[in-house]
Amino acid sequence: MTASIYLVKGREKSLRRRHPWVFSRGIQRVEGKPSLGETVEIFDHKGEWLARGAFSPQSQIRVRVWTFDRNEAIDVNFFIKRLKTAQGLRDILADRDGLTGYRLIAAESDGLPGITIDRYQDFLVCQLLSAGAEAQKEALIEALNTCYPECSIYERSDVAVRKKEGLKQRTGVLSGEEPPKFVTIEENGVKINVDIVGGHKTGFYLDQRDSRQAAVKYVNGKRVLNCFCYTGGFGLYALKGGASQVVNVDVSQPALDTARMNAEMNGYPLENAEFLNADVFKLLREYRDRGELFDVVIMDPPKFAESKSQLVGACRGYKDINMLAMQILKPGGTLLTYSCSGLMDNNLFQKIIADAALDANREVQFIERFAQAADHPLDSAYPEGFYLKGFACYVK
Ligand code: SAH
Repeated sequence: MTASIYLVKGREKSLRRRHPWVFSRGIQRVEGKPSLGETVEIFDHKGEWLARGAFSPQSQIRVRVWTFDRNEAIDVNFFIKRLKTAQGLRDILADRDGLTGYRLIAAESDGLPGITIDRYQDFLVCQLLSAGAEAQKEALIEALNTCYPECSIYERSDVAVRKKEGLKQRTGVLSGEEPPKFVTIEENGVKINVDIVGGHKTGFYLDQRDSRQAAVKYVNGKRVLNCFCYTGGFGLYALKGGASQVVNVDVSQPALDTARMNAEMNGYPLENAEFLNADVFKLLREYRDRGELFDVVIMDPPKFAESKSQLVGACRGYKDINMLAMQILKPGGTLLTYSCSGLMDNNLFQKIIADAALDANREVQFIERFAQAADHPLDSAYPEGFYLKGFACYVK
């Protein structure tokens, strides 16, 4: 018999608003003994059915909702339906932006909690982050094979959060072929080599695509510093946009090698590009101390805050690099700055930039706002899905 979860009185409100999480403290009692990731029925304190979800006995988020429709079973067909709906949006975006790589499933934001699927050409790369996702793996693979018979499926569940769910990290082929060293995707007319097996995350930072495209309009004829460049990203778009020089900086030599290869593959003028293996924090101080100036600085650091306890330190880090970036901008320069820490909201990030401006003794105007690319949609029932924000700043 399926296990049942009864909620504490009042705790049904968020579910009625179709928010997909049940926290452990919201549970009054559990009937039955659900195993790791097992599908359970969720009821309010009066016994009225609310939703059906996956049980995560080791996580504070104790249940993640699969469906609010009592007639919907969690099986291969369920996953096929969700995939088809998600594909509808990606078709629009692929057409709009000329994409052969995109996020197909953005977990909760696409109605599949704990499941991330990125498509790179004919490779689907899955990250299964929750006990429920893990428990449904076979059904998911079957659904993917049905919807995408042309695709191979690769797993990149090598992420620390799996531990919170009582899961081990895992990578490898789930179906079809082993990915080659590089799969080449295209977005907005830019070609990018993606290392599915060895790259960061599932191989590429798809979420910055819209911001990369927005950067094109600020760089023509400009000297650009691209901090935390990974495999080129913003730097490739800067070259496309006619930058006179792009200095790409990262601490990962493999990423820098791929960045150079990507610039070459696109036929961009390599004489206008530099690929520097350096720590951004140190390099910015060196530039400042020797009076080196840029027209445009791009600041796209990794996530500084993984948990609430790290938020204060993260704020200091963001303020520091943004202050330094302002100090090495020519008067009238542009700062394109981002934060992918979900715990830092838009207002807080804006305040940090304001503080950085004071410390840098520069006047700053916010002239454009950015968010994660449209294939990382924000579902109206799940505001937590907003994590990536950014600003274009005019630095006087
Ligand atoms: N802007 C990129 C994504 C950046 S991801 C894009 O559009 O694709 C963050 C990058 O920062 C990673 O490549 C990581 O290797 C690099 N990194 C982390 N700490 C760093 C540091 N202190 N100095 C330089 N690079 C760093």
